Amino acid sequence: MEVQLLEATEDPEELICTAARNDYSEAFVGDQSFAETMDEIDGDDIEDRKETLIGHLLDHGHFGPFEHPQATFAVKGISRSCMAQITRHRHVSFDVQSMRYVSFDDVDPDDVREGELVVTPPSATDPDWVGRNQQTGRVGEETAEKREEVFSEAVADAVESYQELLDLGMPPEDARFVLPIGTKVNMVMSMNARMLMHIGDMRAAADSQWEIRQMTEEVLDLAEEWCPITFEYYNEHMKNRKNRLAP
Ligand SMILES: Cc1cc2nc3c(=O)[nH]c(=O)nc-3n(C[C@H](O)[C@H](O)[C@H](O)COP(=O)(O)OP(=O)(O)OC[C@H]3O[C@@H](n4cnc5c(N)ncnc54)[C@H](O)[C@@H]3O)c2cc1C
Repeated sequence: MEVQLLEATEDPEELICTAARNDYSEAFVGDQSFAETMDEIDGDDIEDRKETLIGHLLDHGHFGPFEHPQATFAVKGISRSCMAQITRHRHVSFDVQSMRYVSFDDVDPDDVREGELVVTPPSATDPDWVGRNQQTGRVGEETAEKREEVFSEAVADAVESYQELLDLGMPPEDARFVLPIGTKVNMVMSMNARMLMHIGDMRAAADSQWEIRQMTEEVLDLAEEWCPITFEYYNEHMKNRKNRLAP
């Protein structure tokens, strides 16, 4: 999997602070410089003041201002299963690679056995991997090898059948019905900083599946570079807490 930050609001934390100061200022923030807007906030300089205000907002659950800055991520090579999980979030906008218009007719089934086109879950190869809702714990090397063999044969067979159906003239939108749920997909998604924290709450949590957790951790790393005060605070004080209703 690969996650990139495609586009994001410039100066997101200036925007958050301006929106929040609007709520408590008599003066119109549109008529002021950012320095004037932040004048009454504690701090030695403007960066200090931003830190004070953002920490205060997050600490008090004043999350509205975090809905203004928006970020767009490009995600490569997640499974359709992971895509189904992330697209449940209703305040995120998505574009998902189409299997109606993109057909995988030139993929070599031997490469599929090696991990192309379909995501291989760690439990298919790692004898020590223990997932949720799993009846057994660690397994022996022999069992792990057998799992890998069954998995890789099953996905390669599915891709071979898919390509045969295409050769028989079936449209890609129908032939795709035989492809596995682990088939890789590329996606573009946009969300605001508040929603990003909500995704972090729900999808970086221990009870989420490994793949969406990995994607969320990568998204949060990029968010910390984009909107540093907010996401450093989030990572230090809010991540992994119990309350998931807000932000
Ligand atoms: C570990 C895990 C297991 C899961 N298992 C399943 C499963 O087995 N089956 C399944 O179907 N789903 C499952 N889900 C998905 C889950 O139920 C949610 O649908 C999904 O995580 C979207 O999150 P959200 O409900 O916070 O809504 P979002 O769409 O992310 O909305 C954010 C917030 O906005 C508010 N909101 C949005 N829409 C409404 C609304 N219509 N009414 C009231 N408030 C609203 C809520 O406060 C919500 O938390 C699972 C999620 C996780 C993390």
